[in-house]
Amino acid sequence: MYKIAVAGTGYVGLVAGVCFAEVGHQVTCVDIDEKKVALMKSGVSPIYEAGLTELMLKNYASGRIDYTTDYKSAYKDADAIFIGVGTPEQPDGSANLSHIATVARQIAETIEKDCLVVVKSTVPVGTNDKVEQFIQDFLIRDVKVDVASNPEFLAQGSAVDDTLHAERIIIGTESKWAEELLTKIYRPFHIPIVSVNRRSAEMIKYASNDFLALKISYMNDIANLCELVGADIQDVAIGMSFDERIGNKFLNAGIGFGGSCFPKDTKALDYIARQHGYELKTVKAAIDVNKQQKRVLYEKASKRLITFNGLKVAVLGLTFKPGTDDLREAASLANIPLLLEQGADIYAYDPVGADNFERLYPAGKNGTGSITYVAKIEHALKDASVCFIFTEWGEIKAVLPETYKSLMRTPLVYDGRNIYHVQKMQDAGVEYYSIGRKPARK
Ligand code: NAD
Repeated sequence: MYKIAVAGTGYVGLVAGVCFAEVGHQVTCVDIDEKKVALMKSGVSPIYEAGLTELMLKNYASGRIDYTTDYKSAYKDADAIFIGVGTPEQPDGSANLSHIATVARQIAETIEKDCLVVVKSTVPVGTNDKVEQFIQDFLIRDVKVDVASNPEFLAQGSAVDDTLHAERIIIGTESKWAEELLTKIYRPFHIPIVSVNRRSAEMIKYASNDFLALKISYMNDIANLCELVGADIQDVAIGMSFDERIGNKFLNAGIGFGGSCFPKDTKALDYIARQHGYELKTVKAAIDVNKQQKRVLYEKASKRLITFNGLKVAVLGLTFKPGTDDLREAASLANIPLLLEQGADIYAYDPVGADNFERLYPAGKNGTGSITYVAKIEHALKDASVCFIFTEWGEIKAVLPETYKSLMRTPLVYDGRNIYHVQKMQDAGVEYYSIGRKPARK
């Protein structure tokens, strides 16, 4: 059992902290956000993740996890401090490392015994070297500090499961001591460990995320071409998936990738390449395709409807994917402002993300349009002139084709997630447009 501190209680830090406690370590999670800490202490998770609350309650009750804003008490005698703070993108595409720097400084000024600092946040190649140097420069006491890279691969929506049953754990170290300690910390997880140097570990994270982003954008690009040549992207994907070299995952075409990782990590790697005088053409293409893909349904609908002004528009799904309350880079955020600008009266439904969206776009008049949040899908669809589907929540997938026909003023549906069978929508009398498939006309 090790004494572990975790800096940052977002999707990565909190889930890591809870899972370390679950396998028997003594964990203190640190955040600067007092409200979050108070919530967690009262047993409420500040983020929506399946299974997280149960594990929080269980491990808090057994005394294996605590939450605090007092970093000094958490860091001073920790065996290892995991950093899971945000590294958001800056306007030029580079990663903002200011939160990492703050934590590094706090660690340097606080620790009272030898300590392994582990960077879980996604950071540009070479950052761990800099963090180590930075900590050495500001270290107050005569203690040993090593920095290790341990990038995180969890996916929001299945974060707890992904952490407890990860396919691999990447550890990037520059000393035997760091490698051995981190290996021991992860031993109770019984997950294969890939041990490499720090820069390779940092690169593995970007290379993995950007490969997945590329795969998505490639399928979206092919989907757009499918529409033009009369092919069906879902049939094409099935045909491709039998090839083991391609695999059967991440072949779904849609309205583009969102979330806190793929958009920022593609831009960050493009930036890193440019810094080194190299043009990363493949990743740049993924970024470009994704930008265009987010608007593909809006463009189609604009041509078909001429104007959104005064129309009731149903929006089903606000989060960037199901199973999370996260809106970062969601398709809804790319499209709703456009619809509002055009004077649409939006009725939005999301089983989990509506509150977060309402903080950004309060209910009521917004420019020439307006937005209303509804608790039931039927209320969004009733008398709507058009419906956009942005997230494939189970509740939305369960809506029958006939429901659009019976509730909407005009059953016109733009589906960014290819939820429905085209023929079934056509049979139900719904005018239906999706991604990479032929439209269904009444
Ligand atoms: P997040 O924004 O959800 O959470 C970051 C947390 O850090 C916030 O609660 C913030 O208050 C806290 N924080 C900021 N400064 C702090 C400080 N000085 N001390 C303590 N806490 C502080 O971020 P996230 O989505 O968990 O991502 C964290 C990192 O992990 C990023 O680099 C991200 O790219 C990477 N990552 C994210 C995911 C994901 O799915 N979200 C997956 C893999 C990797």
